[in-house]
Amino acid sequence: MAEQSTDLKAIMRRDERHRKMLNDPDLTGDLLLFALGLDEVIATRQAQGRKTSGKSWMTAITRLVSGDEGYRRYWAKHVVERDVPRYEPSKSRGRGCIAPMIRREGLCGQPGSTHVLDLDPMTGEGAEGYLCARHRGLEAKYLALKRQWHANGEPSPSANTGGVLRRYFNADWDGIYRWASPWREPLEGGREATPPRPTLRLIQGEGEVSS
Ligand SMILES: [Zn+2]
Repeated sequence: MAEQSTDLKAIMRRDERHRKMLNDPDLTGDLLLFALGLDEVIATRQAQGRKTSGKSWMTAITRLVSGDEGYRRYWAKHVVERDVPRYEPSKSRGRGCIAPMIRREGLCGQPGSTHVLDLDPMTGEGAEGYLCARHRGLEAKYLALKRQWHANGEPSPSANTGGVLRRYFNADWDGIYRWASPWREPLEGGREATPPRPTLRLIQGEGEVSS
């Protein structure tokens, strides 16, 4: 991204990047707004021949997309924090009790109220689940798995979420992620890219959009 923004190739690349960003299902809401703001701030500063430096980006982006950096002072930080590449245990599908049955195959399945994390103490891979009132006593088993995981030095699988901004911008992301979330070490990798949305085509004169 060293080219001047007046360079036609750079403009075309930028247009292509905007289209990719807008069609990336993982890049939505505030994260998309942030990415478009970042792209614009970089382009503006390149055109002005100014150096881009760490935290002043954040103020510039917030000012650009919200119109008032004071009003949403921590907005940019929170957006980046939510994009830290990290591992998250698989979410529970419903609230069915995950206690294994003894006399029959499968899980209990009764409505659960006690939230537990079924953690592999060797790898750190985990899945959220629930226990029903009758099986609440099994909670101790899951807490013991967690203690063992701590004792093993808290091993972590590679990231399965976050890291979407890294797809589009070359920057010292490890440094930026650590700034936004000092207590959490950014992991390698990140979420696998979801296939892009179907391309939308604007039908001229018809006033409708079709896929
Ligand atoms: Zn149960």
